[in-house]
Amino acid sequence: MEIVLQNIGKQFKNGTRALDHVTFTIPQGEFVSVIGPSGAGKTTLFRILNGMETPGDGAVLFDGSDISSMSGTARKNVKRSIGTIYQDFCLVENSTCLANVLTACLPDMGFFPAVFGVYGKERRAEALKFLDRVGLSEKSEEPVKNLSGGQKQRAAIARALMRHPKVLLADEPAASLDPVTGRQILTLLKEIQKKDGVTILMNSHNLEFSQELSDRIIGLKDGNVVFDGTPSEMNEEI
Ligand code: ADP
Ligand code: ADP
Repeated sequence: MEIVLQNIGKQFKNGTRALDHVTFTIPQGEFVSVIGPSGAGKTTLFRILNGMETPGDGAVLFDGSDISSMSGTARKNVKRSIGTIYQDFCLVENSTCLANVLTACLPDMGFFPAVFGVYGKERRAEALKFLDRVGLSEKSEEPVKNLSGGQKQRAAIARALMRHPKVLLADEPAASLDPVTGRQILTLLKEIQKKDGVTILMNSHNLEFSQELSDRIIGLKDGNVVFDGTPSEMNEEI
C-alpha cells in the first residue's frame, strides 16, 4: 500500500502548529524512520496515519485514494491493514500473551464471541504461530505483567501481525527498552520488512539505530520536513 502525504498541516485549538506542509510518498515495503527533536510533530504525524487525528489541511492517500473521501468499508479496510506498536506496548497487563494477541481479532468478531472470548481454533493457532515467530512460544499462557519489556514489545508485534498488516507503524518502539533489547526489537522489525514486504514507518530518536536499519530517514523540525533521504545522504549532510 503506497502512502502519500500531500501538504499536511495540523494546527491545534490552542494555536500550536504541529505540522506544516508535510509532503512525502512511501512506497510499499520501505523502512522509514521519522526523526526529530521533541515537539517536532512526530507523534502528530503518527496519529494522523493511525486515523486517531485528522489533518487540518492537505490529504492522506492510501494507494491513491484520499482517506477522508473513502466509504466506511474502504476506510475500515485501510485501517485493518495497518498494525501499530507503541513505546509503552499498550497491552492488557493482567491478560496472557495469547489473549492479548487475540484481541487483534476483535474488530472482525460479533459482539457475543468477543465478550465471551470465543476465538475459534484457527485464530488461536495463528496467534500461537505469531508468538512463536517473535520468540515467545514459551510465554503464551503467561500474564503480560510477568514479562520483560522486550518480551512485551514482542507480544505487541505478534498482536500487530494478526492483522496481516501491509504497514507497521512503530511509535518509538525501543524507547522504553535498554539499548541491547531495543536493537533486538528493531532487528525483528527489519526481518518483518524483509520477509513479508511490510512497510515499516518508525518514529525514533535513536539516530544510530535509524541509520543502521532504515532505507530512508525523514527529519522533522518544528512541523516541517527538513531532511528526506537515505542514511548515507544524511551522513554527507552532517
Ligand atoms: P513529537 O512527537 O515530535 O515530540 P508532537 O507531535 O507530540 O511532537 O507535538 C508537536 C507540537 O504540537 C508540540 O509543540 C506539542 O506541544 C503540540 N501538541 C501536540 N499535541 C497537542 C494537542 N493535543 N494540543 C495542543 N498542542 C499539541
Ligand atoms: P476499529 O477502528 O475498527 O474499531 P481499532 O484499530 O481502533 O479498530 O482497534 C480495535 C481493536 O483492535 C481494539 O479492541 C484492540 O484490541 C485491537 N488493536 C488496537 N491496537 C492494535 C494494534 N496496534 N495491533 C493490533 N490490534 C490492535
